[in-house]
Amino acid sequence: MSLTQNIIRPDILALSAYHVPDASGFVKLDAMENPYQLPADLRAELGRRLAEVAMNRYPIPSYTELKRRICERLGVPAGFDVVLGNGSDELITILSVACAKPGAKVLAPVPGFVMYEMSAKLAGLGFVGVPLKPDFALDLDAMLAAIAREKPAIVYLAYPNNPTANLFDEAAMVAILRAVGDSGIVVVDEAYQPFAQASFMPRLPEFSNLVVMRTVSKLGLAGIRLGYLSASPELLVEFEKVRPPYNVNVLTQAAAEFVLEHSDILDAQAAQLREERSRLAQALTATGAAEVFPSAANFLLIRLKTGKIGANDLFSALLKQKVLVKNVGKMHPLLENCLRVTVGTPEENRIFLDAFVASLAM
Ligand SMILES: *Cc1c(COP(=O)(O)O)cnc(C)c1O
Repeated sequence: MSLTQNIIRPDILALSAYHVPDASGFVKLDAMENPYQLPADLRAELGRRLAEVAMNRYPIPSYTELKRRICERLGVPAGFDVVLGNGSDELITILSVACAKPGAKVLAPVPGFVMYEMSAKLAGLGFVGVPLKPDFALDLDAMLAAIAREKPAIVYLAYPNNPTANLFDEAAMVAILRAVGDSGIVVVDEAYQPFAQASFMPRLPEFSNLVVMRTVSKLGLAGIRLGYLSASPELLVEFEKVRPPYNVNVLTQAAAEFVLEHSDILDAQAAQLREERSRLAQALTATGAAEVFPSAANFLLIRLKTGKIGANDLFSALLKQKVLVKNVGKMHPLLENCLRVTVGTPEENRIFLDAFVASLAM
């Protein structure tokens, strides 16, 4: 046996690492980043703020001021606090670790965000995926049956869902919250909330098992790595015990506090992207080559029509033209022949559309 075989868990030896393609030189429409930076004057001011940060000191782990601004600016209900994460990826890890009793399970609709399953397995929890309906709606009967059978400690519902871009039916989600009751938590992942204009955050007081999780990544700050979640104080106390005390670094803390003073700019960028999203959807539909699914996020899921170019060939043709999207066809049978495209600037979207149309003729 080799060293790695001697010491590494067999399930980890069998995994492949999360692959992120190198996108330098490409029009990058694969990762749901906001294409806009802050205006130059604010960036200069941010630079001055960051220069004052005491990088020689540890962060103060209560993060009182940052949390106060998040609660005030981002609609956390009165009386509710947040737990901060180094991206919501870390919050998912914290939830997995906190709930990893022997035999505990995580349940989520599939296709969905891959980190739910990944994080569950790394923490030693079982993962149960319940297929969505072909139109990507929740299969409520199948969800309720699986919840009764598996008694999951954590149910994830991404609102809207990645990679399908749709908002699940609110009444179906409430039925799931009720069915899970006090045998588990239901995590509503609102990573795309600025593009959805729908949220379970205001409903926190209604459900003691509801956890609302968000991130600043998709609204323009993917690089600083900051996520937050809210839930009842009883739950937050326990999640806090698992959070590494200095998980949000002082530069992220200062940058987030600064940007939250100017959140109107991010709101305006999100509004612009929502408009761009409908323009892009219309233009893609008009090519006649793709079905565009309804989107409440900053990306579009499209399915290439049969008889035209397939998703794999189109993906390669786009790559040759230096446009990077995500080929999701292999993620799940329901996504056959589908691509996921992030909404970019008008210029980026035009380049993508031109490359799309050119690919059809190849
Ligand atoms: C992108 C994404 C996240 C991850 O966000 P980070 O805060 O960047 O880690 C979480 N959930 C969903 C559904 C996402 O699409």
